[in-house]
Amino acid sequence: MVERQLRGRGIADEQVLVAMAAIPRERFVPPDLRRHSYFDDALPIASGQTISQPYMVARMTELLEPRPGLRVLEIGTGSGYQAAVLAQIGCSVLSVERHAPLANAARIRLEELGLAGSVTIVVGDGSLGRPEEAPFEGIIVTAAAPAVPDALTAQLADGGRLVIPIGPRRRQELVLVVRRGDGFERHDCGPCVFVPLVGESGFAEEAARRRWPGRIL
Ligand code: SAH
Repeated sequence: MVERQLRGRGIADEQVLVAMAAIPRERFVPPDLRRHSYFDDALPIASGQTISQPYMVARMTELLEPRPGLRVLEIGTGSGYQAAVLAQIGCSVLSVERHAPLANAARIRLEELGLAGSVTIVVGDGSLGRPEEAPFEGIIVTAAAPAVPDALTAQLADGGRLVIPIGPRRRQELVLVVRRGDGFERHDCGPCVFVPLVGESGFAEEAARRRWPGRIL
């Protein structure tokens, strides 16, 4: 997976490659799909959600420019895999998930892998971020939003980086926003498709469920 899907496609940050080689992805995938754990695709998990494609996890992580000690807010814990990769790099992660059963299962996995000390998982609508815990040096949203939420850019530290899929439900652009003082630089980083961010600055509850979101197009 690391050599073919990640390095072979241009992921160059060694910390990301080493972390993804270290984290057992099969522990984050439902038992009946374990044989697909290292496939080049997103996979369904509980609550109608998905674990993102390995390449997408690597790309989003790389765009955050992670380093040990970086304070990251993740919105959309899902299986906990993305949070595990960030924790393995040494980041300190606050992760928000709206489905309590996913949050609970992710907590147990991270504990079993000895990563729980670096990841705090909370249940709720993360679409407005966590203003009371801001600022963050990195914010990663692993669900698609219709537009970049101002509430999230406002919670970036100076120089902080926000990675978020933006666009309509069936196809989005992976967007990187970098805070420079009171200004924001926006970079478009390629097409992707994710499950919807459901909440105040996301989509309405009945947002459609696509089968394989969380991957490049
Ligand atoms: N990062 C995950 C991928 C999760 S898929 C992984 O590595 O497995 C996106 C997740 O975002 C889903 O679990 C979904 O329930 C969650 N989500 C959607 N809207 C949300 C919101 N407003 N607040 C918190 N979580 C949300």
